[in-house]
Amino acid sequence: MDMNQVYEELLGLKELQVNQVVVGATQIEVYCESRLVEGYCPVCLQKCNCVKQTYERKVKDLSISGKEVWLYITSRQYVCKDCNRHFYEQFSFDPRESVTKRYAERLYDLSQGVELQYVVVRENLCWQTVNRIFQKYARKQVNLINAFARVSRPGIDEIALKKGHKHYIAVVVDLDTGQVLDLPEDRSKQALVKYFQAKGPDFCAQIKLFCSDMWEGYLNAAKKCFLMPSL
Ligand SMILES: [Zn+2]
Repeated sequence: MDMNQVYEELLGLKELQVNQVVVGATQIEVYCESRLVEGYCPVCLQKCNCVKQTYERKVKDLSISGKEVWLYITSRQYVCKDCNRHFYEQFSFDPRESVTKRYAERLYDLSQGVELQYVVVRENLCWQTVNRIFQKYARKQVNLINAFARVSRPGIDEIALKKGHKHYIAVVVDLDTGQVLDLPEDRSKQALVKYFQAKGPDFCAQIKLFCSDMWEGYLNAAKKCFLMPSL
């Protein structure tokens, strides 16, 4: 295992390939890119590999050994060959948010019962960032709105990973919005049954259609979890 792979393991963000790590006195800079070969067109739901341009996003993640961790993510903008839509590649976190999902959750936890200014100073962030995350998560808790709460037509597909990585990765997509919802850890039928059931009985009951063209394990998992007339 080379050093970059060690950092990939440490990071545990399975869609990211680490290219270089610079360890400084107070922060760790991780230069990375998506391991996925293709992106999903949010309009026509076709897989797409036509890259229009790349750019770098700077995203803060959980600290390691007291050092701030900054991800410099080379990120792609695609053009769909079918519908000509330009779109940004999606990750398991929203790279426009400037923090990873797990770090946002940590910030929200830290914000409980204290002045936001305390978190701002402790985490060396600007007030606007902490406030935006706090508001977003506070609303979610009240309304129980999450990406899965409104989904009635999910689909699951597989995207190949770049050379040097043997595997495919499963991608759960909302067929109505084209949003990538998640990249489940384990693609086996048993694991997916657990995964979907963990989203709650309301989620399982509201599924009207499930789409998968790959592997019958996916359809069998769906049959077990969802009460759809067509299954
Ligand atoms: Zn398209």
